[in-house]
Amino acid sequence: MKWSQTYIPTLRDDPTEAEIASHRLLVRAGYIRKLAAGVYNYLPLMQRVLLKVTQIVREEMNASGAQEILMPVLHPSELWRQSGRWETVGRELMRARDRHDRDLVLGGTHEEVVTSLIRGEVKSYRQLPLNLYQIQNKFRDEIRPRFGLMRGREFIMKDAYSFDKDEESFKVAYQKMLDAYFKTFSRCGLETRMVEADTGAMGGKAAHEFMVIVDTEGGENIIFYCDKCDYAANMDKASSLEENPQEEEESEKPLEKVATPDAKSVEEVTAFLDVPARKLAKTLLYKADGKVVAAMIRGDRQINEIKLENFLGCINLEMADAQTVEKITGAAVGFAGPLNLKGVTIVADEEIPRLRNFVTGANQNDYHFKNVNIGRDFKIDQVTEIRCAQEGETCPRCEKGKLYTNRGIEVGNTFMLGTKYSQALGANFLDVDGKEKPFIMGSYGIGITRTAQAAVEKFHDEKGIIWPASIAPYSVEVLPLNVADEMQTRVAFEIYEKTKEQGIEALIDDRDERAGVKFNDADLIGLPLRINVGAKSLKENKVEIGVRKTREVISVGQNQAVEKCKELLSDL
Ligand code: ATP
Ligand code: MG
Repeated sequence: MKWSQTYIPTLRDDPTEAEIASHRLLVRAGYIRKLAAGVYNYLPLMQRVLLKVTQIVREEMNASGAQEILMPVLHPSELWRQSGRWETVGRELMRARDRHDRDLVLGGTHEEVVTSLIRGEVKSYRQLPLNLYQIQNKFRDEIRPRFGLMRGREFIMKDAYSFDKDEESFKVAYQKMLDAYFKTFSRCGLETRMVEADTGAMGGKAAHEFMVIVDTEGGENIIFYCDKCDYAANMDKASSLEENPQEEEESEKPLEKVATPDAKSVEEVTAFLDVPARKLAKTLLYKADGKVVAAMIRGDRQINEIKLENFLGCINLEMADAQTVEKITGAAVGFAGPLNLKGVTIVADEEIPRLRNFVTGANQNDYHFKNVNIGRDFKIDQVTEIRCAQEGETCPRCEKGKLYTNRGIEVGNTFMLGTKYSQALGANFLDVDGKEKPFIMGSYGIGITRTAQAAVEKFHDEKGIIWPASIAPYSVEVLPLNVADEMQTRVAFEIYEKTKEQGIEALIDDRDERAGVKFNDADLIGLPLRINVGAKSLKENKVEIGVRKTREVISVGQNQAVEKCKELLSDL
């Protein structure tokens, strides 16, 4: 393709709306343009990348035995009501209404639709196992669309759904998908780590996520690993062993109410009272489906709302607003405590019962209690793990290793759904024993657009993108330094024609621009190889091949250039 005839609107300056490198680069290099928050146009170079990622995904899905279909984006709301997700997915569900005032859903995932497709049609165990997938635009009304294609409201996803007759056969199906995922991402040039994940609104028994490890802000997920065993889990799911409960040794001291003027935060209160944060219990008020719940965790811990939500089994969990806090505690936000807290369920993290003589809010402005003790001063209703794991803590699996963390971009997700959807939608088959049973299901997603951007977040430098060869929009850029020089143009086009004959995808920068501008643009768009055709080398019948990844420059005879590129590409 000639650069002059393709639409590559590169920008000289960084777009202001972009917070992370990959977003910045995709806009600057002319790959994407925003239409609305979380909604993007994919320009010619991006479309080529997406088609390559799609092709790899498709090949690996087909190789695993899954079959490609295409389901509608527009779903009748009844299906979502039957599964319960009309309510549970809440505001992330993109809803629409037709002219008859009927509710519709713009699909963000297709468990309901695929189950309704199978229901009543796949009737016998003989038709199983079955795995159906599609590649399609998905819609989710994300609370915070951001980072370009990373978290869009419209994005491209591959979603597969497996149907099995029993657990044994499901296990095989699930493992096949895991294998296909590792292969798919690796073919895209991305090493991934599989971690345990929370099942969220999807439901089911267990889930795994595929993470591309990055050390930039673009890695939205924090992943915990053990340094001794294979334990790996995302932040929502990760747990740790409790620390040594030294406090149990302490004898109870008399309760004291102390004035803590202007001290509200854990830092302020503990500094003022001169106690460590671990000797303070935070009391956080939440509304769980409208009902107020108090969650208690140690001052040096972060609350894990996913764990709390799962424990409470509620659909909607949100921090109580200031008004509610004042009504319940009689004090401003920042002074809530468990003593005399009427009509509110107290859920405490499992570390809380270990505490002795600790600090809590006093439900009175500018006051805290010291030497609080459970049993004597207040009662806990329920104890569970609701804190986030922290780096350096002990692994919950091997109980020996220490946990450490990395940032990751979730590019794929696999769910063991069990019979959640088949039961809710009445999708059964006749088993070999003549009994009717619900299908055992799995669902498997890959974010096509997110994967493409993850590659940019992982592979770039200060000059631009460095595409893995397998998903680059073109493999080679042929760059005549000066198109006014007939000789350069002729040789450049000869090389360009030869790449085509050899089946190498090439872009030729035939623009009448200064060499410097073209070099910068070439670095920016990030094709794996570049062939510079300039007057100086041509004097010796040579051209230069630049390797984007290593910045290596190789001088070769002009007739060997294409062969050399072929050789280099096989290693990229
Ligand atoms: P996240 O935790 O990032 O919101 P999710 O758990 O909601 O992801 P799934 O429902 O499992 O994601 O979707 C499958 C895949 O689709 C994800 O692994 C991710 O690669 C991609 N994906 C999900 N949400 C988005 C989005 N808003 N924009 C782009 N890709 C997305
Ligand atoms: Mg999500």
